[in-house]
Amino acid sequence: MKLLSAKNEVQEILEAKQAELMGGLRNREGIAIEKSADQMDEIQYATERDLAIRNVDRESALLRQVKAALRRIHNGTFGTCVDCEETISPKRLIAVPWATRCIKCQETADREGQEPEDASETFSNAA
Ligand SMILES: [Zn+2]
Repeated sequence: MKLLSAKNEVQEILEAKQAELMGGLRNREGIAIEKSADQMDEIQYATERDLAIRNVDRESALLRQVKAALRRIHNGTFGTCVDCEETISPKRLIAVPWATRCIKCQETADREGQEPEDASETFSNAA
């Protein structure tokens, strides 16, 4: 029962995150390509554009992970490590709901440099 309620909580977090990311990406769909005669301005715009594109890339990647996690909830494989098939701890799933690996396997994967997970973002309102 405990895991089930954690799952519902995680699903809510994922759905909210998905809506947030989709909204953010829609708003930035048309990244303005501004033209200026002033070269300094051009450099400034190019830097801002690069930054915006990087953010969109990062958010798109996260959105893919969030969507994959929601799919796993629906097909019943959510919460199981893709590497060792152990149960991922509910605490970890609430902090990183799109996690596909248990902490041990994630650490191994990080060391080997595969799909580094963005763990910098945690949910302060999860509790
Ligand atoms: Zn594992």
